[in-house]
Amino acid sequence: MVDIDKYAGFCFGVTKAITSAENELSEFGSASCLGKIVHNQKEEIRLEKLGLRTIDKNEMFANPPSRMLIRAHGEPPSTYNEAKRLGIEIIDETCPVVLKLQGLIAKTYRENPDRTIVIFGKKGHAEVNGLVGQTDGKAIVVSSLEEAEKLNINGKIVLFSQTTADFQMYGQVAEILKNRHSDVEVHETVCGSVKNRVPRLKEFCANYDVVIFVSDEASSNGRMLYEVCRATNSRSYFVIDADDLQAEWFEGVSSVGISGATSTPSWLLEDVRSKCCKIMGDKI
Ligand code: SF4
Repeated sequence: MVDIDKYAGFCFGVTKAITSAENELSEFGSASCLGKIVHNQKEEIRLEKLGLRTIDKNEMFANPPSRMLIRAHGEPPSTYNEAKRLGIEIIDETCPVVLKLQGLIAKTYRENPDRTIVIFGKKGHAEVNGLVGQTDGKAIVVSSLEEAEKLNINGKIVLFSQTTADFQMYGQVAEILKNRHSDVEVHETVCGSVKNRVPRLKEFCANYDVVIFVSDEASSNGRMLYEVCRATNSRSYFVIDADDLQAEWFEGVSSVGISGATSTPSWLLEDVRSKCCKIMGDKI
C-alpha cells in the first residue's frame, strides 16, 4: 500500500501564484518573477521550460521587464516604489495571508512609534524582508530561542511571526519574552495552512511502516514538517525527488505514506509514489 497524504501539496497561496504565472506564460509566452516563485527546484525547472524567468533586484534595475510577478512571499514597499519608477507593471501575487500580516505590522508601526516590533522568522527570508520593510527596517528579527533570550528591550514589545514559522517554537519565544519583559503583545500569525498540517501529519505518519517526505531543502515549512514526521515515525525519510529513494528503506515494509511541504507540487508526489510502487512491486 502506497498512499499520498491528502493534505500534502501546494497551499492556496502558492497555487494562486503559480496559476497566475501559468496564465502570464500562456498569454505572453514568457514572464519574469522577482525571486523564485516557489521553494521547489523541480517546479521551478518545469516553469522555466514554459518560459518563466527568475530575476533578482540587480537584474530588475539593469534590465527592467515590462511586467513582473511578485511571488506569494511578498515584497517590502521599496520594491513597489522602485518598480513604479522603472515603469514595470506589477502582477502582485503576494499571498492574502502575508498581505494581511504586512498590513497589521505597518499599522502597528505607524500608530505606535514607541513600541518595538519583533518578528520571529528566518533572517534574510523573502517574506521576513517584506515584513521588516513595513517598519522602515526597524523591526528586530529573532530566529532562535537563544536570540530571544538575549533580547533586552525597554518599553512595549509587539511580537509577530513569519507565516511559515514553527508555531511551537513561536510559543516558546513568546514565553521567553514575556518572562523577561513586562509588556509584550503577541499576535498569532502562523498561517493555518502550515499550522493545521501538523496534527494531520502526525495522524498520517502513525498509519504507515515508512514515511517519505518530499520537499526542497530550501523550504522552511518543509524542514519543520519533516521534523514532525520523524518525531512521529522513526522510519521517515526526506527526499527531493524519486531519484533519492533507496530500495533498502522498503525492506519488510507493507505500507508507505508519502507527504510533502506546502511548496511540493502534486505531480512530484505522484512521481515519488510511482517509484515507491515500483520498488515495492519488485520486492513483493
Ligand atoms: S503557507 Fe500560508 S501564508 Fe504561506 S503562501 Fe501558503 S497560504 Fe500563504
